[in-house]
Amino acid sequence: MSRSASARANRRGDPPPAPEPLPSPALDSHTHLDIVLGERPAGDEHGEWAADDDVDAEIAAAAEVNVTRLVQVGVDVPSSRWSAALAARHPNVLAAVALHPNEAGAGKADGRALDTALAEIDRLAGLPRVRAVGETGLDRYRTGPEGWAAQEQSFRAHIDIAKRHGLALVIHDRDAHDEILRVLDDEGAPEHTVFHCFSGDAAFARACVERGFVLSFAGTLTFANAGNLREAAALTPVDQLLVETDAPFLTPMPYRGRPNASRLVPLTVRALAEVAGTDLAELCAALTATAERVFGPWKMEPGAPLHS
Ligand SMILES: [Zn+2]
Repeated sequence: MSRSASARANRRGDPPPAPEPLPSPALDSHTHLDIVLGERPAGDEHGEWAADDDVDAEIAAAAEVNVTRLVQVGVDVPSSRWSAALAARHPNVLAAVALHPNEAGAGKADGRALDTALAEIDRLAGLPRVRAVGETGLDRYRTGPEGWAAQEQSFRAHIDIAKRHGLALVIHDRDAHDEILRVLDDEGAPEHTVFHCFSGDAAFARACVERGFVLSFAGTLTFANAGNLREAAALTPVDQLLVETDAPFLTPMPYRGRPNASRLVPLTVRALAEVAGTDLAELCAALTATAERVFGPWKMEPGAPLHS
């Protein structure tokens, strides 16, 4: 860790210690390493980006507990570019690119600015290690009604980009379950659609499972008051489950409130194994198989061109 990174970690509190390693390789289907390690206002290309050494150390710390596959998720044009570049150089990382629904709905990216940004997301989506379009969707918690039309327009455009490139769609759904299903049913969902940080109850989980969607559970699954989420996870077929951190957010118990990191995903995988009533090693293998079905293989082909 560089001096600047350790200074940041100290400001936010020390990251929790890594838990016991998983018995088989598993993954983090949704992380923001740029936000874990860097400091950059949304939309700003010139903020302080994490140093490669610090990023590599985070990825190595995750691999030490058998979290060997990560999906690095962009939320605006600069972080989507950064995510694509990281995936191009690191074998453990694939990238997702998008404008976050709160970016799209904030009026910062209206009209022509939204079109220009979407054109860049479309370009990035064509790179070989960019394997998902997201996080996109609807957020009716942080964005007020004045931003909903722009947010939905952006969501529909992201669905189109995912389908044209044959990529998975990664959904951000905050207080917008029914609206998201309405848009997906209307547009036609891509073959692989993942609800990142699934936040619905059993009935909504059933509606997603029926449509063939994949439900990715975050550290919220471990919270004491998350009975609804555990019910949702329990009824989801194992081949429609994924796990994630959404780091640096949503840290699992017993570290809720401290900074999250991919090396903590074993806490959520263990909780999921208990809820799903599956053997831990078998669950790890199923999660990895699902991730490779949805995002494609992580392994870099020898001699394949690395674009960034
Ligand atoms: Zn996220």
